[in-house]
Amino acid sequence: MARSICWFRRDLRLDDNPAWSAASRSAEVVPLYVLEPQLLESAGPFRRRRLLGDLGALDDELREIGGRLHVVVGPAQEALPRTAAQLGVTSIHANADVTAFATRRDDACAASCPIEWHWGTLLHPPGSVRTARGTLSLVFTPFYRRWLDVDLAPLAEPGSARVVVATGSEPLPTPDTDAVEPPGPSGARDRLEAFLEVVDAYPDLRDRPADDGTSKLSADLRFGTIGPRALFDIVGTATAGRAAFVRQLAWRDWYAHLLWERPDLVHRALRPAYDRIDWRDDPAGLQAWKDGRTGYPIVDAGMRQLRATGWMHNRVRMITASFLVKDLLIDWRHGERWFRHLLVDGDVPQNVGNWQWAAGTGPDAAPYFRVFNPTTQAATHDPRGDYIRRWVPELAGLAAPLVHDPSSADPLELAAVGVVLGDTYPVPIVEHGFARERALAAYKAALDGQ
Ligand SMILES: Cc1cc2nc3c(=O)[nH]c(=O)nc-3n(C[C@H](O)[C@H](O)[C@H](O)COP(=O)(O)OP(=O)(O)OC[C@H]3O[C@@H](n4cnc5c(N)ncnc54)[C@H](O)[C@@H]3O)c2cc1C
Repeated sequence: MARSICWFRRDLRLDDNPAWSAASRSAEVVPLYVLEPQLLESAGPFRRRRLLGDLGALDDELREIGGRLHVVVGPAQEALPRTAAQLGVTSIHANADVTAFATRRDDACAASCPIEWHWGTLLHPPGSVRTARGTLSLVFTPFYRRWLDVDLAPLAEPGSARVVVATGSEPLPTPDTDAVEPPGPSGARDRLEAFLEVVDAYPDLRDRPADDGTSKLSADLRFGTIGPRALFDIVGTATAGRAAFVRQLAWRDWYAHLLWERPDLVHRALRPAYDRIDWRDDPAGLQAWKDGRTGYPIVDAGMRQLRATGWMHNRVRMITASFLVKDLLIDWRHGERWFRHLLVDGDVPQNVGNWQWAAGTGPDAAPYFRVFNPTTQAATHDPRGDYIRRWVPELAGLAAPLVHDPSSADPLELAAVGVVLGDTYPVPIVEHGFARERALAAYKAALDGQ
């Protein structure tokens, strides 16, 4: 009797899952998860908790149809062939992944047991969105135009295989703390429904960190508790707000396609000249940035939100990343690692792509000399200062515009609301105008050395 394994990885759902769809068309299917100690240890506390919550939710979903998640401990290249032999399966299905780590692991697995690969984590698979010259565009807008024209694969429907409950499954580790957000596909559906109430305000609110104007679906997409294909169908492009949201899914595909073609982007700038930038070695600056103690309120608010919750608003990710790279002239790879460790949605292609974008080291057309000013960014995107006051409570007594730039205030005015720079709140660790010139000189020197 035909028996398949569906090897779940970043697709922790049964709907809109091409690998599950194919595997569950056999007579019998074993839903498998390989716990990889290396991956679990490298995930920070928020991602680890979310992963374990999502795995628990997948197990619950499988129990509802008479099965359960079969858990084995990796490394996958040992655990998968062993499990396949023990369970006597005739085929293995999985959704492919784009990182170098995943590719190496998957190639090693496939060398000892054939795997049928599908694409369930992106809207369009890598290689399917090409310029007229047959290449992947290194600039987003032309990629996006092509992306909109590519035909979508049909929605993957689950099959009706009997779900096998095999012996020898390991228990899932218990999360250290309870989930903050409801995990799994039902949590994702609730988040999506809440977002659809405000989707038409998305173009206006998406850059306002004080407002709840974005979907907060990034961790769902990261772990696959919602599929991008179904998400696209549900949201659609019928209004400007919906189309703006779908455009963000294209950014997500683009960064994944870039990493698929250039796995070295984790370590190297997309444009090699930028690997010659003479980055500063500044452990104290890096630590102040991580701690949210730079003296730039919007930067500190973002870094504290990240540390407290594992999430940071996209606009503030851009501002904090730019501050590290341009104002402190610290190598973007340090920031990428810190974000990846803490972000609940931490995801190599998205994180690396966005960090390289913020650093101006290759992806997209933004020139390196466009340097964010953290104070004017704060005034534009957090005009009342509500976001800053939420995450930097020692500035709670300050109104806009002083809350954007306390160092410009009269010390007496600050003292009246309990703020003493250098005591209750840091003085800016670097002067932005000076830092901007320093960064431009360093980038120019790297380019001139070509
Ligand atoms: C320096 C930096 C690092 C980042 N690291 C990550 C990361 O590790 N993982 C991650 O998922 N996103 C990352 N992003 C992208 C973006 O900040 C988050 O996806 C977004 O904030 C998630 O919130 P949301 O789901 O409410 O987004 P929405 O605004 O509701 O967007 C919907 C979805 O589109 C995708 N998306 C939105 N913006 C981007 C973008 N700039 N790039 C790629 N996809 C996008 C996400 O999957 C998101 O869930 C990073 C951005 C920056 C500037």
